[in-house]
Amino acid sequence: EEEAPVVELDNAEIVYDRNFLAVQGVSMKADRGDIVALLGPNGAGKSTILKMISGIGRSERGEVTRGDVYYEGEKVTNFQTKEMVDRGVTHILEGRRVFPDLTVEENLRCGLYREGRRIRYDKSDYELAFEYFPQLEDLLDVQAGYTSGGEQQMLVIARALIHRPNLLLLDEPSLGLAPKLVQDIYETLREINREEEITMIIADQNAQRTLEIADYGYVLENGQIELNDPADVLVNREEIKEFYLGTSSEE
Ligand code: ADP
Ligand code: MG
Repeated sequence: EEEAPVVELDNAEIVYDRNFLAVQGVSMKADRGDIVALLGPNGAGKSTILKMISGIGRSERGEVTRGDVYYEGEKVTNFQTKEMVDRGVTHILEGRRVFPDLTVEENLRCGLYREGRRIRYDKSDYELAFEYFPQLEDLLDVQAGYTSGGEQQMLVIARALIHRPNLLLLDEPSLGLAPKLVQDIYETLREINREEEITMIIADQNAQRTLEIADYGYVLENGQIELNDPADVLVNREEIKEFYLGTSSEE
């Protein structure tokens, strides 16, 4: 008996502004324990796909208009975000959304809330986060707005880890970071994936770096999947080499 994928999109479609097809006929999946890379140029539909899974942003976008989304074998098409959070889905949005005026510790503590209720609060809750991002421990009393872009990215990942997610969705975690820092953060994500058995979908314009840690990759263009293959195959395909490499940005 085969295990259902952690998440699966079946011929999914999303319309913005009543008539703009941002995602059309997309079928993809993430098997348990995998890192899946969601690649493609700006505007391809990567963020929209992550939002279809977590339910975030439905009010501005509307519902999935065709096809279905499954999570752990359950049909979750158009579920509310809180229902997905309850099922272990954590979505790290684009742009490292820390609270700049709060300290790093206070930002981490926000990870301990669900639907306005404090789920637990104990320094031991941070241990998992410090295991992977020890540099945060020295920054606990610093206002998050004064930390670097890399530290802020670590902070939002750490905050998500406190939820102990089953599925982690990451949107453009490498954007605007120096290459060495991206490498460090991506290697850490890979470690977290392996050690904590957290399935991940990473949307990123930086195809090369993401495919280095991914198990499988999808390349989107204009809301459709153009290429998909195991990451080690995809990284060597001519189309990827021609169009998508060397797109990483630097600080
Ligand atoms: P990516 O993450 O790959 O850059 P997005 O999923 O953000 O792509 O966007 C896909 C398409 O949907 C783009 O053409 C974008 O302009 C459009 N889009 C995204 N968000 C909205 C929105 N809130 N309202 C209208 N159009 C949107
Ligand atoms: Mg995006």
